[in-house]
Amino acid sequence: NLKQVEVKRNESRSAEAFAKAKQVIPGGVNSPVRAFKSVGLTPMYMDRGVGSKVYDIDGNSFIDYVCSWGPLIMGHAHPEVVEAIKKTAEKGTSFGAPTELETLMAELVVERVPSIDLVRMVNSGTEATMSALRLARGYTKRQKILKFEGSYHGHSDSLLIKAGSGVATLGLPDSPGVPENVAAQTITVAFNDLAAVKLAFEKFGEEIACIVVEPIAGNMGVVPPEPGFLEGLRQVTTQYGSLLIFDEVMTGFRVAYNCAQGLYDIEPDITCFGKIIGGGLPVGAYGGKRQFMEMIAPIGPVYQAGTLSGNPLAMAAGYTTLKLLTPAVYEQLELQSQKLQAGLEANAAKYNVAFTVNRVGSMVCPFFTDKRVTNYDVAKQSNLTYFNHYFESMLHLGISLPPSQFEGMFVSAAHTDEDIAKTIAAHEEAISYLQQ
Ligand code: PLP
Repeated sequence: NLKQVEVKRNESRSAEAFAKAKQVIPGGVNSPVRAFKSVGLTPMYMDRGVGSKVYDIDGNSFIDYVCSWGPLIMGHAHPEVVEAIKKTAEKGTSFGAPTELETLMAELVVERVPSIDLVRMVNSGTEATMSALRLARGYTKRQKILKFEGSYHGHSDSLLIKAGSGVATLGLPDSPGVPENVAAQTITVAFNDLAAVKLAFEKFGEEIACIVVEPIAGNMGVVPPEPGFLEGLRQVTTQYGSLLIFDEVMTGFRVAYNCAQGLYDIEPDITCFGKIIGGGLPVGAYGGKRQFMEMIAPIGPVYQAGTLSGNPLAMAAGYTTLKLLTPAVYEQLELQSQKLQAGLEANAAKYNVAFTVNRVGSMVCPFFTDKRVTNYDVAKQSNLTYFNHYFESMLHLGISLPPSQFEGMFVSAAHTDEDIAKTIAAHEEAISYLQQ
């Protein structure tokens, strides 16, 4: 019986398109959260995106904070990125042979991320983390891995245990199809619980190949590391001869020029990338010090390959995006995101709604709880009824948010002062409806 916005978006064409898609695509979508199942709505079918805005096939426009789930840090259809893709496409889209663009891209990553000597391109974040695990297991000759509850590292078997993102959004138990003997090799503990990590190492330390961690958890909502947590992971992995893998698929080139590892000044052994380094095209990558990366074929015995890996289109989009990401862009992202956070918090205080904003740079997450959100258990205590109502109101008010309490908003360099002001005004209206 919460109040609803008066004018609702037109969604007739999207509804029709969704119904048609469901006839031929499982759930109508090619990635589960897009179906808007947890918020019980019809997803918008997109027509186009420009800068901070997206336009659906019903003619609605939205200020977009999904930004393709992170890659579009420069906004939709950035003219330089589009131009680079066009120019490259004219020369051929893929060769299955090396191109100089791949080296340019790798040089840029190596230059910006001091923990990386060598980097291998793949096609998605899932591939990056899956390959990094194989490398860690191959290098250490150990089987077990340790990950954190509510973290998402893509959908490979070993990493789909107690996962975040869509798995959390849909409230799914651990996925059928993951062999029990594979699942048994994955140890999970709560994010930010260093004592639990140490206990796990006391028990299984000699068997643990690696810790895989999102340095800023971004798939249970946004949860920053507590002071000392990442340092503790570095220490314990070094002590036991395990590798520390930073999954920077989301945080890489998002939170700082040198990624989360630069922000917190921790050197992981292996780093995984995705999202931003593809500039909106399908890319992933993993890299690290020479001693680890030289284990990979064709130098070493750990096998990993890809028909389209390092393809020119993805390299052109990613390289151009990274080149656009100067330190000044990160300063601007920080300022806009700070303004957004302050506005959201002021609204919540005005309407006395239990609300906590977690933010690192342009990763922003409003939780409907007054608790300090430090791990997945606390995140789950958020008021999901409020979140869903708020999400729907925001949509009708022209703001596109991730359709889940367990996903963060992404601010892009294309979000203007006006966009931020409009978002804060819409947020005020949306949360005013949460008072019965
Ligand atoms: N790792 C993290 C931290 C992610 O956020 C994601 C996707 O959201 C992945 C891995 C998987 O990447 P992809 O969806 O490109 O396979």
